[in-house]
Amino acid sequence: MTEALETRVSTLLEALPYIREFHGRTVVIKYGGAAMREEFLREGFATDVVLLKYVGLNPVIVHGGGPDITSYMERLGMEVRFHEGVRVSDPATVEVAKMVLLGKVNADIVNRLNRHGQPAVGLSGEDGALFDIRPHERSAEVGFVGDIERVDVDVLNHIAEDYIPVVASAGADREGNSYNVNADTAAGKVASALGAYKAIFLTDVSGWLADPSEPDSRVSRATVDEVSAELPKVSGGMRPKLEACVEAIRGNVESAHIIDGSRPHSLLLELFTDAGIGTMVTG
Ligand code: ADP
Ligand code: MG
Repeated sequence: MTEALETRVSTLLEALPYIREFHGRTVVIKYGGAAMREEFLREGFATDVVLLKYVGLNPVIVHGGGPDITSYMERLGMEVRFHEGVRVSDPATVEVAKMVLLGKVNADIVNRLNRHGQPAVGLSGEDGALFDIRPHERSAEVGFVGDIERVDVDVLNHIAEDYIPVVASAGADREGNSYNVNADTAAGKVASALGAYKAIFLTDVSGWLADPSEPDSRVSRATVDEVSAELPKVSGGMRPKLEACVEAIRGNVESAHIIDGSRPHSLLLELFTDAGIGTMVTG
């Protein structure tokens, strides 16, 4: 065999124990940010997820729409503000966020998965009463941002039998008010409610950085207690991500991973090769 062929064969063999381990397991994937920004990354993400389904995993996608919501708000001349990594949401912001999330971002993900050969179904927290929302603890600062009180996984389990569920992170409370929900928070809750095997968060940095200004300071592994101890010091978009990892692990998810979605096929690299990338949080 030529060297190139041997490399290909060994890549497949390297994946085998992982494929065996993950068969039939649920993996919740938070999709957002960087991995959504470029066409080739959107296509790469879709092929990766479809491959997961073909090899017997049960992928569940939870997504935000960060960059798209921001760009539509700017086109409408609306002010965009964040407070500790959470979008400040007045009723007009929630209206736009919901339209963009469902009408554009969600529809695009569903369309791509369908095209690559695994049918997907898009839904938001309101469909099948998936999320029960209450106002965020910092609602005085952030407005109509919701916390998920309860996830009713029935609808997800039904869909996942035949389709890939694609969940947009928005929902309503019992009075019918709509809320923006941070997609990391939603993914953490969904993973723990489903009793997922893994929760994977795609982002735009290599992982959790001990020093955010130092790209080489990635924490490759941490326990949930170590993460909890450091949380008060973490700011920006990494905060809800680490909180979501803690939520997932406390909900009996085996491991939570924060990986760089701007790296093509980072999902496959993380799941099926020995070279763990990103940050892995365990119990
Ligand atoms: P996403 O779309 O992945 O949710 P966010 O911008 O919300 O993206 O979150 C990722 C961002 O969090 C990084 O780009 C970085 O600017 C910021 N951040 C803040 N603190 C840290 C940290 N300790 N490690 C890594 N990133 C951090
Ligand atoms: Mg974010």
